[in-house]
Amino acid sequence: MTTDMDAVSGSEKNTEHGAGRPEDFRDSLVEWLADNLTPAVVTAGHAGIENTENLAIWRTWNHRLYEGGWAAPAWPAAFGGRDASIDQQLAYLEEMARAEAPGPLNVIGVSNIAPAIMAMGTDEQRARYLVPMLRGDEIWCQGMSEPDAGSDLASLRTSAVLDGDSFVVNGHKTWNSLGRHADWCQLYVRTDPRAPKHKGISCLLVDMTTPGIEVRPLRTMTGDLTFCELFFDEVRVPKGALLGRIDEGWGVAMTTLSYERAGVARLHLGLTGRFEELLAEARRVGVRPVGGVRDGLAALYARIACMRWTTTRELEAIGRGSQPSPVMGSLAKLMWAQVEQDLADLAIDLLGPAALLGPWSKNLNAARQASIAGGTSEINRNIVAEHGLGLPREPRPTAGTSP
Ligand SMILES: Cc1cc2nc3c(=O)[nH]c(=O)nc-3n(C[C@H](O)[C@H](O)[C@H](O)COP(=O)(O)OP(=O)(O)OC[C@H]3O[C@@H](n4cnc5c(N)ncnc54)[C@H](O)[C@@H]3O)c2cc1C
Repeated sequence: MTTDMDAVSGSEKNTEHGAGRPEDFRDSLVEWLADNLTPAVVTAGHAGIENTENLAIWRTWNHRLYEGGWAAPAWPAAFGGRDASIDQQLAYLEEMARAEAPGPLNVIGVSNIAPAIMAMGTDEQRARYLVPMLRGDEIWCQGMSEPDAGSDLASLRTSAVLDGDSFVVNGHKTWNSLGRHADWCQLYVRTDPRAPKHKGISCLLVDMTTPGIEVRPLRTMTGDLTFCELFFDEVRVPKGALLGRIDEGWGVAMTTLSYERAGVARLHLGLTGRFEELLAEARRVGVRPVGGVRDGLAALYARIACMRWTTTRELEAIGRGSQPSPVMGSLAKLMWAQVEQDLADLAIDLLGPAALLGPWSKNLNAARQASIAGGTSEINRNIVAEHGLGLPREPRPTAGTSP
């Protein structure tokens, strides 16, 4: 367990490398990676944390990233980041992708949960949670979706009733990434069942070892235990676990990724890496693309390049002081989901039936999640249509209760 003093000493250490020209920042990361990244870490990063050995390797790597100040450069230096500019964040993502270096274990925590704790948490919550999250000492999951509340998150029914100094939580969450490993959960609950549905929600930071929580892993079609269901039966959560104000959890849920604006570049960087791997594999097995497959590869290359230029244009505008475009995230996610799935399909067309036995087969199944996770493609099209193109609003199933 780390302490406040660790956070402070981390921040002092990090500012030594901190602000400056993007090229100096990039050079110091490249140098650091050359000194610290090992093939075992790269392999563990590719394999994920399904087995305990990989988890241990990745956790040690996460500690090293933190000590070097490279776990989340976009975070404020006070919490172990570097206050990195947009250019520096982009350089970080590019070099980490180029080196195939895994990022911090808490992929959801660092990008999504931490910004909400920084913006809406108490000083005590920030001091308690952020550094162990960034070091990977404590793993976080996010409890939003329920069997009847996914795209329409505000329909969630898991309840929390205040009883003395505790909330008593009852309900069922699903599709919980990292739930099997999680020490903490950022949990969305209904605290006022009489209020309009977006108004009576609160956010709790829940210790996963609390009695009454049952974690049931779900096996996906890739064979992995990626997700869990969480069951809450009379779980007593201390009042101090409330993040933000009571009944104002919708605002917490909507908190933007304020410290990870360049994170959108991760999408095309990941695709670029996989595209290059596919070409390398085709060369290795001696396959030459012809006809429609050749055209398909050229089209994918062009679409990935479009994603890169769209992202770069947006990030440059933010760097010059413009407000982030409200639809940029949705556009990037839409493009990514389509290209990810087309690339997975094309890999099998290119490499032939033999590829159905290897990692490309797993990728073919795994790519299906791209159009669901983090907002489905239909929902993202609605956002682009309504907020980007100004088209009329889609009818909502429960008229009069939308935000
Ligand atoms: C890889 C992955 C990781 C995830 N991790 C987490 C996690 O850690 N924590 C968590 O809480 N959840 C997580 N989820 C769940 C995810 O947020 C939901 O799956 C997603 O929000 C969709 O909800 P749903 O599955 O209930 O589908 P539904 O919302 O029931 O949608 C079903 C279909 O109806 C369409 N649809 C719904 N509403 C509209 C509309 N208004 N207009 C047009 N079409 C519509 C959808 O696009 C979809 O095709 C994860 C999902 C995936 C795939």
